Formats: sequence, structure tokens, C-alpha cells
Amino acid sequence: MVSAPSGSGKTTLVRALLLENLPLSFSISATSREPRGDEVNGVDYHFLSTIEFKNLIKQEAFIEYEEVYPNKFYGSLKTEVERNWKSGKHVIFDIDVIGALNIKKKYPNQTLSIFIIPPSINVLEERLRSRGTDSETALLERIQKANEEIKFSEKFDKSIINDDLEKSKKQIIKVVKDFIDS
Ligand code: ADP
Ligand code: 5GP
Repeated sequence: MVSAPSGSGKTTLVRALLLENLPLSFSISATSREPRGDEVNGVDYHFLSTIEFKNLIKQEAFIEYEEVYPNKFYGSLKTEVERNWKSGKHVIFDIDVIGALNIKKKYPNQTLSIFIIPPSINVLEERLRSRGTDSETALLERIQKANEEIKFSEKFDKSIINDDLEKSKKQIIKVVKDFIDS
């Protein structure tokens, strides 16, 4: 499971990990937020309306879900996990701090939790601004939440400070390889 404040570089690092020849597959979450940048429906997320998302909650389609930002729901689908288990691979969840710690509590030995830390809140803000995909409101929501999320970093099995991108890529690949081999 990979968690990080938005803008820390989690998507960039998970994409790098998936390019490696490792037995990994990505659990595509559902979300009620709008697609941003080069995100593709059914690849990065299953993009749903709030009504569609709430119907899935009623149908108990999620392993877990959270309202990560006001009226922005995110959840891991049971169908995704079943699809990935059938392929015999390890499943990568990109999940918020609360969701990750809940799953870790349920499956302490079968899971590896990784936290991606931005070098500082100022750098995080710069990255979010230069990504250029978030409205000012979304940006402020994300920065405020980041301050809270960073406090949980020591509860994770591993944390990576994403300063130098190439170094961080190497680190995450090593940590995941070691877990798979253990
Ligand atoms: P997240 O998925 O955590 O929201 P992204 O992977 O979208 O974050 O990264 C946020 C922005 O920061 C992107 O524009 C990305 O290219 C850039 N970025 C990621 N890692 C680094 C890094 N180590 N140094 C500089 N920029 C980075
Ligand atoms: P973003 O909008 O930047 O893609 O994601 C915002 C936050 O939602 C991140 O912390 C991300 O990890 C989290 N997130 C993505 N998918 C899920 C999910 O399925 N469940 C939960 N609980 N959080 C998720």
C-alpha cells in the first residue's frame, strides 16, 4: 500500500514501480472526483458520479472507502482485488492514510505500507502548482490535509522522502522487491 499527501509524487513513483518486471498489479480505485491531467478512466481510476459511488456503497462493493475531501469519495473495489488475486500478483493500493492504516491493522503480516513524504510543505505546494491540474480550492484542501497526514508517517512500515526523483524510484523498487522476496 502506498500513501502520501497529494502532490508528494506517489503517482509518479507507483508508475515507475509498475514499469519494473515485478509480480505487481494495481488496484484501480473508484472515485467521485474529476479526472485530472493525463488520467484515463479505467486505468488510473474508475471515475464515477457521486450517485454512482453511493450506490456502490449500498451494494457493499468496497473493501474500504473514505470521503477523503469534502464530497470527494475514494474506495477500493472488491472486484479489483479479486481480479488481481486471480492473476497471482501482489496488489498495490494507492490509498489515503486512514485507509492504509485500517488495512494494515486487518492484515499486519501480509501487507507492506509505504509512505511518501514531500521534502517540505513548501515544495509540496510548488509541485501541486506546477502540476497545474488542481483548482485553488482543491490545492488549499490538499495542503491543509497534508499537514495532518504527515503526522502519521511513523506508523508506516517504510517511508521515503521524495526529494531526488531517481533516488526515490530506486528506493521504492528496492523496498518492494525485498518485501516480495521475504
Ligand atoms: P501525487 O500522486 O502524490 O499527487 P504526483 O506523482 O502527481 O503526486 O506528483 C506531483 C507533481 O510533482 C508532478 O508534477 C510530478 O511530476 C512532480 N514530482 C514528483 N516527484 C518529484 C520529485 N522528486 N522532484 C520534483 N518533482 C516531482
Ligand atoms: P488524488 O485525488 O490525489 O488522486 O488522491 C487523493 C487521496 O485519495 C490520496 O491520498 C490517495 O491515496 C487517496 N485514495 C486513492 N484511492 C483511494 C482508495 O481507494 N481508498 C482510499 N481510502 N483512499 C484513496
